[in-house]
Amino acid sequence: MKLTYYSYNLELKTVFNLSQSSRKFTPTILTEINYENFTGYGEASLPPYLKETPESVSLFLEKVNFSSFSSNFNLEEILEYIHHLIPENYAAKASLDIALHDLFGKIKEKPCYEIWDLKPDMAPSTSFTIGIDKPHRVIEKAKEAANYDLIKVKLGSEEDKTIIETIRSVTDKPICADINQGWSDKFYALDMLHWCKEQNIVFVEQPLPKEKAEDMAWLTSHSPIPTFADESFQHLDDLKKIKNSFSGINIKLMKCGGLSEARKIIEEARKEGLLIMLGCMVETSCAISAASQIASLVDYIDLDGNLLISNDCFTGAKVKNGKVIPTDAPGIGVLKNT
Ligand code: MG
Repeated sequence: MKLTYYSYNLELKTVFNLSQSSRKFTPTILTEINYENFTGYGEASLPPYLKETPESVSLFLEKVNFSSFSSNFNLEEILEYIHHLIPENYAAKASLDIALHDLFGKIKEKPCYEIWDLKPDMAPSTSFTIGIDKPHRVIEKAKEAANYDLIKVKLGSEEDKTIIETIRSVTDKPICADINQGWSDKFYALDMLHWCKEQNIVFVEQPLPKEKAEDMAWLTSHSPIPTFADESFQHLDDLKKIKNSFSGINIKLMKCGGLSEARKIIEEARKEGLLIMLGCMVETSCAISAASQIASLVDYIDLDGNLLISNDCFTGAKVKNGKVIPTDAPGIGVLKNT
């Protein structure tokens, strides 16, 4: 079994403005694992807030030694090895987990969703993201969202109400608002949540900074709409910490270490009665197609990261009738663009 990897810069179609940052590129590391005649593809997307870098991912991947697995491909054993190799490094682990699942499906000649007996058609519709921008751009983006059932809006600035009112001037579709920790005061946040409900905003993501855990528990207990943890929730170990402070969690393969961990989190979160969203970073169709394999297991889907870039080097899952549907090709169902 042979691992190769290289860095690749994702170019954003438009500058991505969030409440605390803006950027034009997202760095990634793309992985390939060869086994017999098969190649599995994976990806580590590295937005700055996750603190993993192309250098840290490369250092992790340098340590990987698959030599003891070369005579017999046992997915569970290999994933276990990677998970315990070095603590944390979740995006690096995701890049291997995705490639190994792709390989596993190719060996079995089945898409991953079929191996797990899942039905992609049963997945909820994906949301379409609108970043913080000038009113005319917000209107343009709201019009682009015509084929989607749910609009996702990035809030957390002085302009929040103006942005929502601007969108409401062109569409009355349900909105979910991602605050990206942008509201600092719990009383202000609660006022905003009541206003959001009046605007048919169906839930909010990460209204307060992740450090404000107590305020967040208070806010969720008073909120008229569900609250989702994104920055406050990274991986399985965080579930216990946040289960009483939010109504739901946003799972992303890059935060949790890949498909195997994501499936464990979904199982545990269901036991806790939490709502579940499956989200993404800015990433190629490789990681999006991987996530789409488990889309039918969750309540909300936010898998549009590949639509935000101009140099996607994979073809895979596509939006059909508002849903992100994987191809029926084996593994994660992607082709590498040449
Ligand atoms: Mg978010």
